[in-house]
Amino acid sequence: MLHYSIAVIPGDGIGPEVMEEGLKVLGAIEESHGGIRFARDVMDWNCSYYLQHGKMMPENGLSILKDYDLILLGAIGAPEVPDHVSVWELILPIRRAFQQYVNLRPVKLLKGLESPLRYKGHADLDFVVVRENTEGEYSNMGGRMHQGTPYEMAVQNNVFTRYGTERILKYAYSLAEKRSKKSVTAATKSNGINHSMPFWDEIVKEVSKEYPEIQTNLYHIDALAAYFITRPETFDVVVASNLFGDILTDLGAAIVGGLGLAPSANINPERTYPSMFEPIHGSAPDIAGKGIANPIAQVWSLAMMMDHLDLPELSAVIMNAIENVLQDGKVLTPDLGGTATTKELGDEIVRHIYQGA
Ligand code: ATP
Ligand code: MG
Repeated sequence: MLHYSIAVIPGDGIGPEVMEEGLKVLGAIEESHGGIRFARDVMDWNCSYYLQHGKMMPENGLSILKDYDLILLGAIGAPEVPDHVSVWELILPIRRAFQQYVNLRPVKLLKGLESPLRYKGHADLDFVVVRENTEGEYSNMGGRMHQGTPYEMAVQNNVFTRYGTERILKYAYSLAEKRSKKSVTAATKSNGINHSMPFWDEIVKEVSKEYPEIQTNLYHIDALAAYFITRPETFDVVVASNLFGDILTDLGAAIVGGLGLAPSANINPERTYPSMFEPIHGSAPDIAGKGIANPIAQVWSLAMMMDHLDLPELSAVIMNAIENVLQDGKVLTPDLGGTATTKELGDEIVRHIYQGA
């Protein structure tokens, strides 16, 4: 029997709603496929916790999480708490403390879905964005100056270390080695950002020499965003800095069916600390409480968790169940053009898991 422990952080808004379905799916996997157990502890760390305690998690929150094998997150954020508080005090400390320097975000058109890109030839829309997750533009270095004067300004430094840049690029290239198209596309902006991006490009060239069988493309982020629309079928592994990766993956989600579907994995490749799995969407206050959020992004993040655990057969069980539901097309949430609730779609995925067992 395999045993894993999971710290579950449902979070805010639609986070707890989609998490409930995710945990249901996990239960169905345990029950239908045997041989595996996930001990789960639910943490109430979210914006309500912040409003009560003045912080997003307890002082020893990170040391509590450290002892788990895995972290499962719903979504964090609420209108009453500024994003820079909720994100900077919960998600970013976890990603950094646990050296989850790889943020994996698949851009894959699932069976049964149609891309909003009507252009023909996008049948093979299946690539992955590797986003640097610990440094770059999301550094905590900077500040505000000359407040209350006409010279008021804000400065935020981008931080690209050789260590951080090399390790994310090496991860991207070794991922490309395992995939079929054998290509890495790196996002740059060395024409406009004249210190950090030429440094990034230099390291791309160095690392690429270690992987002679992988083809390298280096595109400016603006052009690359356009290529996501005009020829997304040509990509395999796309590697980008923290901010560029963030923007590219919302775009990536949009071309394969929307934010309600898009999962992510914050990976610590060395496995010295827990990795974290979450939908890429936020707490979506506009639809929170209505019971209509799409749970697929959360459920797909569980499939990514199975891949991380080297259990591809369980990942496939989850993905097949999702694709069967989409292909049936009968139980879909409003973002997919249906009228089903979060719970109904979750139940339908669970039904297919038992059916496939
Ligand atoms: P964050 O800053 O946390 O990324 P955001 O402002 O980017 O949040 P999201 O919560 O990610 O906003 O979502 C943007 C919009 O996409 C939501 O307002 C909602 O309408 C839609 N959306 C997001 N997730 C889902 C989902 N699971 N199901 C249906 N619609 C969703
Ligand atoms: Mg967002």
